Amino acid sequence: MRIDVLGVAFDNCIKAEAVEASMEMLHDPACHYVVTPNPEIVEACRESGELRTVVNAADLVLPDGIGVIYGAKLLGTPLRGRVPGIEYAQALMARMGAEGRSLFLLGAKPGYAEQAAERLRETYPGLPIVGTNDGYFKEDAPVVEKIRQSGAEVVFVCLGSPKQEHWMARYGADTGAKLLVGLGGSLDIFSGNVRRAPPVFCKLGLEWLYRLMKEPKRIGRMMKLPLFLVHVIQERGKR
Ligand code: UDP
Repeated sequence: MRIDVLGVAFDNCIKAEAVEASMEMLHDPACHYVVTPNPEIVEACRESGELRTVVNAADLVLPDGIGVIYGAKLLGTPLRGRVPGIEYAQALMARMGAEGRSLFLLGAKPGYAEQAAERLRETYPGLPIVGTNDGYFKEDAPVVEKIRQSGAEVVFVCLGSPKQEHWMARYGADTGAKLLVGLGGSLDIFSGNVRRAPPVFCKLGLEWLYRLMKEPKRIGRMMKLPLFLVHVIQERGKR
């Protein structure tokens, strides 16, 4: 069942269910994609109907940010919990490794995807990482072809939002992959170039605060969070 938060329909699932559903998709010949919206992306969807359509057309819409959880609760339709994109990706890679399902890493600055591949091969020994490409390419077609040639079943698309959502919807099927997952800055973390917030911040739902402390220039983007809550309260009034 999906739960609407300001026009974005979130899957009301926990991480294990999301991973299970994703593994099922690999048995299906069609191409699927997964998005992991946070309040910033929900706000972007309010401003762009095109983005909202692409996000809602995803096979899984996972509630990445704590703000989404608060929003759903305030609207009287609570979600069961957060599914942080990075934790979902880790659990998915563990399962893929166990089944030998192949992965392509797309995105981030030149060199980061290769570094991430090296580290992930150590963490998930059975996981075939069959290709990488940075996220600053000028033409899409050669990248699509590279993924196709790699034969990857799953692609982590880490181009930032909304670029990654549009890219998956537009080119997903052409890559020949069965599942694409939009994962924002995850390759920065998997490559070891950026540290994820310490567990205490994650547990308290304060990962955004840690990121703000580390990168104060994110303040403009983070102002979307209070705006999101204002919109949730307005929506609650209407309902
Ligand atoms: N990025 C990219 N191509 C672009 C723009 C961004 O590969 O044209 C990458 C960027 O290097 C970073 C990620 O996309 O690794 C976006 O990270 P951000 O922290 O903004 O994403 P979030 O996790 O907050 O969604």
